[in-house]
Amino acid sequence: MDAETFFRFCTEVGRRAASVCQRVRAEQVVDAQQKTGREPVTVADYASQAVILDALRRQFPEHAVLSEEGAGSLRGDPTGPIARRVVELVRDAVPDLSSAAEGDVFDAIDHAGRSESPYVWAIDPIDGTKGFLRGDHYAIAIGLLHHHRPIAGALVCPRLEPLAGGPEGVLHLSFRGAGAFEAPLSGEEERRPLHVSEVDVPAHVRVLGSVESSHGDPRLLRELVDGLGFGGGIVRIDSQVKYAVLARGEAEVYLRPRSRPDWRDNVWDHAAGVAILEAAGGRATDTLGAPLDFSHGAKLEANVGVLATNGPLHDEIVRFLTPRVEAG
Ligand code: AMP
Ligand code: MG
Repeated sequence: MDAETFFRFCTEVGRRAASVCQRVRAEQVVDAQQKTGREPVTVADYASQAVILDALRRQFPEHAVLSEEGAGSLRGDPTGPIARRVVELVRDAVPDLSSAAEGDVFDAIDHAGRSESPYVWAIDPIDGTKGFLRGDHYAIAIGLLHHHRPIAGALVCPRLEPLAGGPEGVLHLSFRGAGAFEAPLSGEEERRPLHVSEVDVPAHVRVLGSVESSHGDPRLLRELVDGLGFGGGIVRIDSQVKYAVLARGEAEVYLRPRSRPDWRDNVWDHAAGVAILEAAGGRATDTLGAPLDFSHGAKLEANVGVLATNGPLHDEIVRFLTPRVEAG
């Protein structure tokens, strides 16, 4: 795997998945089911995953895949309105699947590849489904792990404007050793290199958190901002768009404390974002300063939340958080 192969794959598949999501968004009614744990899932989540995983099973059949959605509920009601709409969206979006059987679309959604591969793709077909449903930010996240380390990432952010201005829709790409870049989601413009901000003065530090208060610990976020005198403001954004905002140099800190003692973060909520942030010069650890450990399958089992920053104040933030996180 090299940078250009990864970038070309993610650009094509990311644009295709984004157009499926935008199409669903433009429709009057967005079908949402409630998953166990009460997270919503829409026809766009399933269709976007089918688009991405179908491309992975064709182009990288030897690799492993970890992804957020499964086709179980669609297989259980294959003629219901949700399954039928998902199949229709996928047939329209992927020329190779234009006359695919339902089962083939469901198999694409469930594609897991070869678990023994050193390459593992971590896919969130819609990260921030709640943001997507609200008409706010969301991301299509494609992370690539090699020997359990995020080495490459793509974050498609349909509601974010390019740094250089222009219509909404940005694609962020990174590959270890090649750097991090952004490009408009549509059009042929050059990729622009991304760098984290150089801000190291607390009074100017801007902090990012979740829109959904149940996804984190807003009290700890507030304590950190007050305790270290961060004066740049708190911005709440859905999804891994937060990593993209850090990589673009538009904020300095993204704190994601454990939302409850038994919560474990999903790899697909972090792999792509961490790869892009690190390639842009930033740092990511857990809230106790431990390296993120992507070797435990679908969850970051060994980590306590996530802290991502532009770098300079990272250790100081860990020192502030450690006793508070340990006290629960
Ligand atoms: P965000 O948009 O940053 O709030 O993150 C969205 C992600 O939060 C989703 O992709 C879910 O995987 C994840 N999530 C869902 N429930 C929780 C929870 N109780 N605590 C932390 N994260 C959660
Ligand atoms: Mg998702």
